[in-house]
Amino acid sequence: MNHTIIPYENLKTLNKPFEDELKQKFSDFLDKGWYILGEEVSLFEKEFGDFHNEKYVVGVANGLDALILSLKCCNFKTGDEVIVPSNTYIATILAILHCGLTPVFVEPDIATYNINPEEIKKALTKRTVAIMLVHLYGQCCDMDAITSIAKENNLKLIEDCAQAHGATFKGQIAGTFGDFSAFSFYPTKNLGALGDAGAIICKSEDDYNTLRQLRNYGSEKKYHNGIVGYNSRLDEIQAAFLRIKLPHLREINAHKKKLASIYHSGLSNDFIKPVINSDFKNVYHIFNIRHQERDRLKDYLLANHIGTEIHYPISPHRQKALKAMNHLNYPISSEIHRTTLSLPCSFAHQTDDIHRVVDVLNKFK
Ligand SMILES: *Cc1c(COP(=O)(O)O)cnc(C)c1O
Repeated sequence: MNHTIIPYENLKTLNKPFEDELKQKFSDFLDKGWYILGEEVSLFEKEFGDFHNEKYVVGVANGLDALILSLKCCNFKTGDEVIVPSNTYIATILAILHCGLTPVFVEPDIATYNINPEEIKKALTKRTVAIMLVHLYGQCCDMDAITSIAKENNLKLIEDCAQAHGATFKGQIAGTFGDFSAFSFYPTKNLGALGDAGAIICKSEDDYNTLRQLRNYGSEKKYHNGIVGYNSRLDEIQAAFLRIKLPHLREINAHKKKLASIYHSGLSNDFIKPVINSDFKNVYHIFNIRHQERDRLKDYLLANHIGTEIHYPISPHRQKALKAMNHLNYPISSEIHRTTLSLPCSFAHQTDDIHRVVDVLNKFK
């Protein structure tokens, strides 16, 4: 019996290859003595923009704020409706609620776990002002269908890209479809900082200028406050760390894809695996499987020293925080949350780890 522990994630191992550069960067940072909105933030915004071939990037404090500030920038009216997938991480929904808007939940496609465009059409009303979509687990939504629905109905399109750094749909990279795209660099994301961090990509210079003010007390010039802003600046040291890791994002994604392909080819058909479609380049932020006896399977893996996670154990509409929605029924979301299990698939894992997980899984009875 092999007792090596395979954790779901290990941030220390994940950042080990960058250790020397990170330490050097911190030392330079201390020497320089400039902590807030300096050169590192500007350069990261430029480089993250180049990665997407986009001009307007605004670094912010975290992924939730990236979503909130994008919505704030649209100047919607209280009670306006925003379409959002019913199975997303709760942050997407919280952003809508914090802006005084009404989230309208739309069920995902059970095969892709992403928002179902046919269901979006049914959810449209006179009050619909935006679609806030989520490229969940690292796979893009069906962007042909969704961009045409947004265009035909004159809706703002906001992409939650927190799980999809570098994912593509028909060759186009996530974060370049919408009016706004929100990124999180939470440490476990495909591009992860060493703390909280986020960014917004937007399409117009006006929105870019508004977002830069919104993140910094509404000020264009020091102590001149044109709008009611926030404090949601991307931390200078996190921007500096992100600049070290950004050039490795493709390598990180390729590594995760290699691990995912071991699962795809090795796992028996007892497990429902993510769909593969050549139009979609999945970056496997999360590699999930589904199984009717998910909880027993999770315990079995743990007994074999393999860590897993559940994304997510409770549907947003069943959370105590969303009391007003607790009576609603989203059977596809509920089915995903009942059966999904996320397997180790990190830059910190080696191919041997994944072969071992596959062997253990295939012996599950
Ligand atoms: C991580 C995540 C967020 C929130 O990002 P933070 O940086 O933690 O605020 C939002 N949406 C999705 C889908 C996420 O996975």
